[in-house]
Parts: sequence; C-alpha cells; structure tokens
Amino acid sequence: MFLSDQTITAIILITLIVDFTMNYVADRLNIGSLTTHLPEKFSDVYDKDRYERSQQYLKATTRLGTITSTIDLGILLVFWLLGGFGVLDHFVRDTGWSIVGRGLLFIGILAGCKFIISLPFSIYSTFVIEEKFGFNKTTPKIFVLDLLKSLIVSLALGIPLLAAIFWFLESTGPWAWMICWGVTTVFILGVQYIVPTWIMPLFNKFTPLEDGELKEKLFAYAKTIDFPLTQIFVMDGSKRSTKSNAFFTGFGKNKRIVLFDTLIKAHTPDELLGVLAHEMGHFKKKHIQRRLIFGILQMGVVFYLLSLFITQQSLFTAFHVDTPSTYAGLVFFSILFSPIDLVISIVMQFFSRKDEYEADRFAALTTQKATALITALKKLSANNLSNLTPHPFYVFLHYSHPPLAQRVEAMERIKGLA
Ligand SMILES: [Zn+2]
Repeated sequence: MFLSDQTITAIILITLIVDFTMNYVADRLNIGSLTTHLPEKFSDVYDKDRYERSQQYLKATTRLGTITSTIDLGILLVFWLLGGFGVLDHFVRDTGWSIVGRGLLFIGILAGCKFIISLPFSIYSTFVIEEKFGFNKTTPKIFVLDLLKSLIVSLALGIPLLAAIFWFLESTGPWAWMICWGVTTVFILGVQYIVPTWIMPLFNKFTPLEDGELKEKLFAYAKTIDFPLTQIFVMDGSKRSTKSNAFFTGFGKNKRIVLFDTLIKAHTPDELLGVLAHEMGHFKKKHIQRRLIFGILQMGVVFYLLSLFITQQSLFTAFHVDTPSTYAGLVFFSILFSPIDLVISIVMQFFSRKDEYEADRFAALTTQKATALITALKKLSANNLSNLTPHPFYVFLHYSHPPLAQRVEAMERIKGLA
C-alpha cells in the first residue's frame, strides 16, 4: 500500500501528462468532426450562418481551454519541481500560528494564486469570446461584484469547514477520517439546503412565476405525476448572458424549480412544460438523490485513503516538504488522488448521460408531448450555439448530457411508441 516518494512522483507526473494529452487529443478530434453541412434534422432551428457561428464558437472556446490548461499544467510543474511547496510550508511555519491557522494560510495562499492565475482567462472568456458571439450581458460592474460575492461566500463556507477538518485530523486519532466524513456530509447537506434561499439570491433575482396559462399548465402537470411542486421561480439570467437554462435546486421543503427569464421568452408553454417535466423526471426517477448518496460514499472512501497517506513521509518528500502536516497532506493527497478522480468523473458522466435519457423519456411519456420537448431542446441548442456533432471520445470524457442529435433520436423513437 505504501508508496515511495519516487513512485508517488511518477504516478502524479504520468497522470498529469496522460490527462493533458487525452484532453488535447479529444479537443482535436472534436474540432475535426465538425461538418460543413448542417445536419438535416436541425434545419428548422439553425440556418447556414448560425451553424457556422456555432462552429466558430466551439473553436474559440476550445482554443482558450487549451491555452488555460497548458499554462495551469506548466505552473503546477514548475512550482512543484522547483520546491515551491517546501518554500510555502516554511513560510507558513515561520508565522508560529496554530496548526489550524497555518493550514488555512497554506491553503488560502494556494487558492489565492490559483484565482489570480485564472482571472485573466475568465475576463477574456466573458468580455471577448462571449461578447463576440453575442452572449455577454455582464457589465464590468456585475463581473467585479460577482467576484467579490463569490470570494465572501467561499471564505464564509470554506474557513469553518477547513478549520474543523484540520482540528479533527489533528486531535481525534484513528477515527478522525470518520468524524471528518460525518462533519463534511452534514456541512454539504446544510449548504444544499440554504443554497436556494441564502446564496443564490446574492447573485440573481428570483421572482415567483406569475399567474397565467404557463403556471396553470405546470401545476396541473405536477399533480398528474404526484410531484410536490410548491414554487416555480424565474431567474434574471439575462443579467449576465443571453444563454438559457432551467434547473432544480435545494431539497426537502426548500426544493424549487428555476427557469431563466431568457428561457421563458423564447419558448411556448408546451415547450416549457417539456423542459420542466424533464427536470421533475430527474426527481421522480431519484437521480438527484442517487447522485448525492454516491457523492457522500465517495467522500468516505477519500477521507479513509487520506487518513492512510497523511502520515506517510514519502508523500511529503515527493513534494519537497520535509515536515509532514495535515494541511499539506490534504493538498498533496488531493493531487495524488487525481487519477482515481479522473476515472470516477468518466464513470459519473456515463451514468449522468443515462439519467438524461431517462428524464427525457419520462417527460415525453408523461406529458404526451414529445414533439414540444424536441423543439425546446433544439431551440435551446441553437440559442446556446451548442456543438451539433461532438466527437464520441470528447463526449465520453466531458459530456454530462448526451449530444442533442442522439437525444432527439431517442425521443423520436418514443414518439413512435407512444
Ligand atoms: Zn437533465
């Protein structure tokens, strides 16, 4: 089980390079599978010009992605191999603070650097790429306010959780991993509960859906499938972007369905019913609950493995740090864990795509309006300039939803049955 520092270094180096290469190859294949001819099926929502723009958009975002990941990888390798973690650890130890204070400082500095490195790319993505393709509505003022608010939320949530984890790892002996697992689980459930009412309103305005045909349709439908629908909210997504979406958030009494204002504007009540029926399908088919339980179990395994590695001198030697500590161990372990993370993410995406088909099927069968859902999905993809012909390898690595053409095909088959 216990690995030498050379083995750890090799595992991490190989993972970083394999991961980078795989993503690069997937990107190339994805660009390579763009077709000059607009797929027949989509001629009702795309014209030649829009189709071409969707391809330009894919090229622009892919290019930015490649640059970002190359720079990220380069910085991590240089920092690591030149002994940056050791220097940072000495700096943190020299403060003479308690272990909790030192841990927060260590992780805070790393997170701060990561944030500063990613900032120019995020500015470029919003104000150059999204702007060029006509999506951006974010003003510099909203952008800065968003950054400040996210910073405050991450500090308010992250500091207590990390402080608790360091304290328990430090002082509760062999059961620390179980206690940390329990504490983190309660924390995550608590955050999920307050997200719709406390956190999301910091960023957007949520107004209850106004009375009328749409609301009546949605509530009447919810009744037929026995869905405990109490509130539907409209979110001012148009404040930041012309892209549209709908989602499901919170749980227990705090459960709510949210529609972007941009979505309502562009769709008929029947199409919106299709979209919401899909979201309710995720709930009725227990996808959301299953994902949460899997996430909690996975966290248990991670904390257990962490407890095995965190006392291993070799883990610290591999990162050029001479004295073991829980905080540095946490960071190093999360890097060492990345090959397993990669596999888990691919498996999760696979199941997520299956869930999407199931929710589509649920929506099509229970509303008896498969055509409206098909139109809604097509319009959504045209509005968001989605890639209509992604390469299967790219889908395998990155897609949490099946490619649109396949979703439409699956629903057309259902329509034949229904
Ligand atoms: Zn879905």
